[in-house]
Amino acid sequence: MPRFAIGVDLGGTNLRIAAVGEDGKILEVITTATEVARGRSLVLDEICFTINKISAKHSSNGSLTGIGIGVPGIIDMKSGMVLKSPNLPDWTDYPVQQEIERRLSTTVILENDANAAAFGEKWMGAGRDQDDLCMFTLGTGVGGGLVFDGKIWHGMTGMAGELGHTTVFADGHPCKCNSRGCLEQYASATAIKRMAMEAIAHGGAIELEKAAKAPTPEFSAQVIYNLAMAGDKPSQQIFQTVGQALGIAIATFINALNLPMYVIGGGVSHSWDAFAPAMFEEIKFRSFVYRATNSEDPNGPRLQETIVTPALLGGDAGLLGAARLPMVMNKH
Ligand SMILES: [Zn+2]
Repeated sequence: MPRFAIGVDLGGTNLRIAAVGEDGKILEVITTATEVARGRSLVLDEICFTINKISAKHSSNGSLTGIGIGVPGIIDMKSGMVLKSPNLPDWTDYPVQQEIERRLSTTVILENDANAAAFGEKWMGAGRDQDDLCMFTLGTGVGGGLVFDGKIWHGMTGMAGELGHTTVFADGHPCKCNSRGCLEQYASATAIKRMAMEAIAHGGAIELEKAAKAPTPEFSAQVIYNLAMAGDKPSQQIFQTVGQALGIAIATFINALNLPMYVIGGGVSHSWDAFAPAMFEEIKFRSFVYRATNSEDPNGPRLQETIVTPALLGGDAGLLGAARLPMVMNKH
């Protein structure tokens, strides 16, 4: 009998829940109107209610393997507790995993949402032919995930993969993590907006200023990207900084890890055209490992290539990765 698993994405403003077959096919996705910010109790009720509904619907086609939940925060993998989550303050120090297991009588695995996205891209996306990859998720913040030998790399306490807090400019913009010059301060949607406001304050960014003052559309990284693609120099400069910051971070990981693939996902990754040239220039400049593996000399040694590529699954990466967790666990 075929089996399916449930992936839950708590990462955004709303709750998304999907039934996923063992072949990676998404059987159904439900985006609930429940705002995650309305509190733990309501969200837990909604998760259990929706999962029961989906399970009942698909039970004639297969049995439920378990549930994986991507959570924006630091997870203690042993206890299944959320240790720290700025977006979900009332989820910390509460046995989320045990509570859902108790209510639904099935395996539940919690995972950091960026790790789940990296696992999803490894399974069904850009990394499906790779054993190892490193993924950056450029959203409101910058998340990261490392997959080594087909498995999520958790490090000692489950905190590995915080790639958004890689220092890219030693004396750069202060970060909420206490450091300064973190990648997140230059390559997130929040950072793009901040850099635009800085350019406006500095003067001479007329198009940006007009867009920031316009009632619609809401001033966003997308609006700034559109201006950059239309030829606005100050907007292009912002995406050059995004590319430079990403290039510095990626070059560091290429030199340190020599992985075959670095994937860039999240909403800002759709601005690839605007930041990729500066990013590749920086990677080539800073990483001799990249240059050695991506030789432009047709007579040079043909080593396996280091690939830096956009993610393929968009918002489904986290859902697929979360659903994959119980499938993989039950195979041991
Ligand atoms: Zn930081």
